[in-house]
Order: sequence, then C-alpha cells, then structure tokens
Amino acid sequence: MTGKVQIRSGDAAGIAAAAEVLRAGGLVAVPTETVYGLAARADSAATVAAIYRAKGRPDFNPLIVHVPDLAAAEEIAELDDRARMLAARFWPGPLTMVLPLKPTARIAPAVTAGLSTIALRCPAHPVMRAVLAESGLALAAPSANRSGGVSPTRAEHVAASLGDRVDLVLDGGACTAGIESTIVALRGEGWQVLRPGPITGDEIAALIGPPLDATAQGRIEAPGQLASHYSPGKPVRLNALWAEGDEFLIGFGAVAGQVTLSASGDLAEAAARLYECLHAGQAASAPRIAIAPVPGKGIGAAINDRLLRAAA
Ligand code: AMP
Ligand code: MG
Repeated sequence: MTGKVQIRSGDAAGIAAAAEVLRAGGLVAVPTETVYGLAARADSAATVAAIYRAKGRPDFNPLIVHVPDLAAAEEIAELDDRARMLAARFWPGPLTMVLPLKPTARIAPAVTAGLSTIALRCPAHPVMRAVLAESGLALAAPSANRSGGVSPTRAEHVAASLGDRVDLVLDGGACTAGIESTIVALRGEGWQVLRPGPITGDEIAALIGPPLDATAQGRIEAPGQLASHYSPGKPVRLNALWAEGDEFLIGFGAVAGQVTLSASGDLAEAAARLYECLHAGQAASAPRIAIAPVPGKGIGAAINDRLLRAAA
C-alpha cells in the first residue's frame, strides 16, 4: 500500500521545486499534452531504475526521452533530413521518433533497454516545457501509472495509481490530446509507425513519403507494445450498441452511455476523453465495461489501438 503524495500546482514555484527534485535524482509526474509522464533524469542508471520500480514496468520496455528542442535531440541521436523535417513540422508536439543513439550521448543504458536506438520527443505542454528548461535535463518519462493500467490524464489519476511512489506531482489540469504520442521509427530509407497516436501515418507520409514495405525490409522491433495494456481491471466489451445488465457503458455519438467519449461523435474529443472514461468505468460498481464503436479514421486508429489492448 502507498501513502499520500504531494500534488502541487504547475506554477512557477511548483516548476522550480520539480526541477530541484529531478536534479537531485527524484521522480516527478508532469503534465504533457498526451498523458501525465513520470519523469526522471535520463543520464542516471539509478533514477531510471526508480522509474521501472515505481511503475512495476518490465525492463525490456524502453523509455521515451523528452528534450526541450531540436538541438538537444541532435546531441543524443543521429537525425537525418527526414527526422529534421518531421521535427520542424511536428515539434513541439505528440510525435516520438526512434533514431540511432549517439555513442557519446549521456543516456543511461536502461533507458533504451540496451537497444542501439532511442525514442525522442519534444513535448508541447507549457508545464513540461518549463520543467525541461528549468532543470536543464533530458527527461525519461513513461506514462505516470502502474504498468499495464489506464494512462493518467489528470493529476488525481497519478496519485491514485502511484501514491507516494512518486516524489511530486505537478498539476496542469486535464491533458488536451489525451492519448500517447505517435511513435515513428526511422531506419535506413524506410519508416514505420510503431504506435498510432495523435499524428497520423498519413500526415507523416505527406511529409517524408510512403512508409516502409514491411514484407520487403522486415519489421522494425517495437518492444513493449504488449497486447494487453491500458487495462481497467475488469472485462471490456467493444463495439457495444447497448449495455447488458451488469455493464457500465461508455458511449460515442448516437450510442449514449453512463459517460460518453463524445456525444457529437468528434474523434479529437474522444481521444482527449478516452482514459477519463476508462477511469470512470474502472471506478464504477458494475463488474464489466462496454464501449460503443469508434470509427478508425484519423486519430480513431489510435483510439481503437488502445481499446483493443484495454479489452485484451
Ligand atoms: P511509453 O510507454 O509511453 O513510455 O512508450 C514507450 C514505448 O516506446 C515502448 O513501449 C516502446 O514500444 C517504444 N520505444 C521506446 N524506445 C524505443 C526504441 N529504442 N525502439 C523501439 N521502440 C521504442
Ligand atoms: Mg504507458
């Protein structure tokens, strides 16, 4: 069991306190535009081990490193022209790029789980950006929840999941994108989406051309993309048009529920509310959750990716 955690406002004083905790090797949960991240300095084996421990995360699952800008990314990884084009278009924002790790980079090996590549993202949320600037650190930051559970989109979700396993939680309100970053791997001439997210494969292809032909060049490894993830801890039924007697229904569009992803059928709103609704289903007394169908176009692909894993 865990005790109470310190939650502070993400104002100037909270940000200064967070930077100090991080420099000293502590763990701080920080709001980003996707979900709340559990941040620690990425250059220390001990702090990275503390992330894995706090989350109960299998350590073959590498972490995303958050940087303040392109210059910081270039110190850590090899960026080619495509990577720079993607950064120019989508950073700061919810795009993570898997790139070759520079041997000179000051990154603890546990961050990449021993891979020769590293996942980098430059986040847009003003609180996360201020923490990066004030700490002067590259920050490893997976979602701030126990491994396998529903991702946190509010400070209270973090407190409920991690308790005092985290030294400090900065409260920045509800996350606006609400779904984890798109992960794109760039390798040789090819590229591949490893995890669908707020930025779609079509948007990436429009900028750097079509993706890797998986059969021709072999699949890029995506460690940690487990079939079961984001679990609310009870059975989940997808594509439900109504609730059975013992189900908590999460609606979408014309399918009304106890809560709804978006009554108007708006996919961006549905992404922003996805984990909020799963947390509500988890907290409900009903032993089962049913979820209305969500179309798979645009960010709907990322929503359905998460729903499939929540139901697995
Ligand atoms: P998160 O759980 O949001 O921290 O996302 C981390 C995910 O990023 C992992 O589960 C991996 O699938 C992916 N990832 C991180 N680093 C790498 C890497 N070097 N190569 C491939 N995938 C990576
Ligand atoms: Mg996660």
